[in-house]
Amino acid sequence: MLYLDANATEPLRPEARAALIAALDVTGNPYSVHAAGRAARRILEDARESIAACFAVRPADLVFTSGATEADALALHALAQGRRLIVGATEHDAILGPAGAAARIPVDRAGLADLDALAALLASGPPALVCLMAANNETGTLQPLARAAELCHRHGALLFVDAVQSAGRARMSLAESGADAMAISSHKLGGPAGAGALLLSPALSAIAPQFPGGGQERGRRGGTPAVAVIAGFAAAVRASGDASHLAPLRDALEAAARARGAVVCGAGAPRLANTTNLALPGVRADAQVIALDLAGVCVSAGAACSSGRVRESHVLAAMGLGALAGQAIRVSLPWNAPADCAERFAAAYTSMVAALRPALADATG
Ligand code: PLP
Repeated sequence: MLYLDANATEPLRPEARAALIAALDVTGNPYSVHAAGRAARRILEDARESIAACFAVRPADLVFTSGATEADALALHALAQGRRLIVGATEHDAILGPAGAAARIPVDRAGLADLDALAALLASGPPALVCLMAANNETGTLQPLARAAELCHRHGALLFVDAVQSAGRARMSLAESGADAMAISSHKLGGPAGAGALLLSPALSAIAPQFPGGGQERGRRGGTPAVAVIAGFAAAVRASGDASHLAPLRDALEAAARARGAVVCGAGAPRLANTTNLALPGVRADAQVIALDLAGVCVSAGAACSSGRVRESHVLAAMGLGALAGQAIRVSLPWNAPADCAERFAAAYTSMVAALRPALADATG
């Protein structure tokens, strides 16, 4: 099997596996005062310190959650209070769901946010909370965060960044990004699923919880934290941070697909090194995913990582790509992509095109 669906979930890193397994043997609720509780608390606070250091925030400004969906929802709940909400048109459903009918920042054909439109939205009303993702999960498009942050702050707005897909693939610092808060997820950077974090700037650190529960996480997120999962999360954060080695493999794979008639969606923008979005005009995305799966290659249709459903991509639709929004697959290389993955993908892709689009296969040989 060739696993090329890292943006859905990254393979577990060995460092994360070792930390997870070691922590599973520690009995104790980290909020109990006895020795067993203190041992679990030490693991939790060590993880907090080490993740906070990697993103250049204070440990006290990091709130552990069950994943990025919860971190996104907590940010919207806590930071939007009294503010208008403005969200990127290509955000993940974890933002678009809770955002409801909030104003959208349009994107260009490469998926880049239209900052003139953002400026107009910011100028048109009271202070806002703006949500703009660091990297798109379907195309890998990297948003101009520093310029967006500058605009937001000029208009008294806060900027919240869903950094799920770029965290672990490039070094990120909350302050350097210009964001006021940021969400990250363990399983998207090679840790176990079941943990994420909301990183807050010092001025916003005392947020109101969505679930007060027992007052854990300094009263910002009730519920007993998943200590072992969080230990694995921290180990994965320490082991990750650079995906640039994947760019040549991604480029080779993309070139092979282009030679077979694929259109690369988002190619005109700066992108994550591991991600490509390949549309095959005239061929439904779900048929492509199934054909590649039968050939042993795991990829996804644009939005499938959320629920297993295959539907037209709202990301490609927002980019103005018309029918291609239902004809594109996302190929996302994991941190441990094999050196021959481009050749293996090219062979499967060629067979897939021959089966699903015989006329094109004849034309391109
Ligand atoms: N945000 C983005 C950009 C994502 O790609 C995902 C997962 O696909 C999420 C949020 C949700 O993350 P989690 O699975 O940790 O809830």
